[in-house]
Amino acid sequence: MIKAYIFDLDGTLYRGKTPIPGTAQILEKLRAEGKIVLFYTNAGTKSREGIVEKLTNMGIRARKEEIYCGSYLLAKYMKKNYPNKTVFVVGEIGIFEELEIEGIEPSYDQAEVVAVGLDRHFNYEKLAKSLELINNGATFIASNTDNTFPTEHGDRPGCGAIVAAIEVASKKKPEVVGKPNTYAIDLIKKDHNLKNSEILMVGDRLDTDIQFAKNCKIKSALVLTGTTKKSKKYSIKPDYVFDSVADLPTTLP
Ligand SMILES: [Mg+2]
Repeated sequence: MIKAYIFDLDGTLYRGKTPIPGTAQILEKLRAEGKIVLFYTNAGTKSREGIVEKLTNMGIRARKEEIYCGSYLLAKYMKKNYPNKTVFVVGEIGIFEELEIEGIEPSYDQAEVVAVGLDRHFNYEKLAKSLELINNGATFIASNTDNTFPTEHGDRPGCGAIVAAIEVASKKKPEVVGKPNTYAIDLIKKDHNLKNSEILMVGDRLDTDIQFAKNCKIKSALVLTGTTKKSKKYSIKPDYVFDSVADLPTTLP
């Protein structure tokens, strides 16, 4: 029996700054029926606080404890696997805020880890510094490898495009934290006392959301409000397909 619904954000609950119709209502209905509502996005330019603010502005109620985002997961991953290591960050404010909460201070010279998220001010200097540090033995960590992210004005280059630049220069593959990697599921299960059979991942992308569910051995629901169009046969098969989150049943086996 599904007890917790994990929602992707972009393309699932909203597009750009516009919520998908019925989003706030379905989340409240799930909560009223005692279900746990969680949010998991690879996006990492904002912290959990920043995402709560964005959702609230769209009329979608959310608490920090319900949010698993790229910046937060990167900081938790650092804390768990590389405690006391110095880190050079390619990324935006969200990553710096979450690292600070974990007590990790970013550095520049001689960093032992290069942590990469989406950075809309990425430039040649940051690329060159990343290469120098990795060549000197620094560990290369990526928030995610999403090639693009959707906006009202079409697709924009994602974190994966920046990761690829560093990968080509350094000839090193990064450790990847976000979807479809399974790292987040253990945190989620522990934080909310859940078993795999009680969790449903709801998302719009096959290669991240649905693949994440497969990798974690949890159930998945594809929604058709984002990247993936209706098809008779999906390359990665979800357990359920709905036109939109508004069509999600509040009870699922
Ligand atoms: Mg999405």
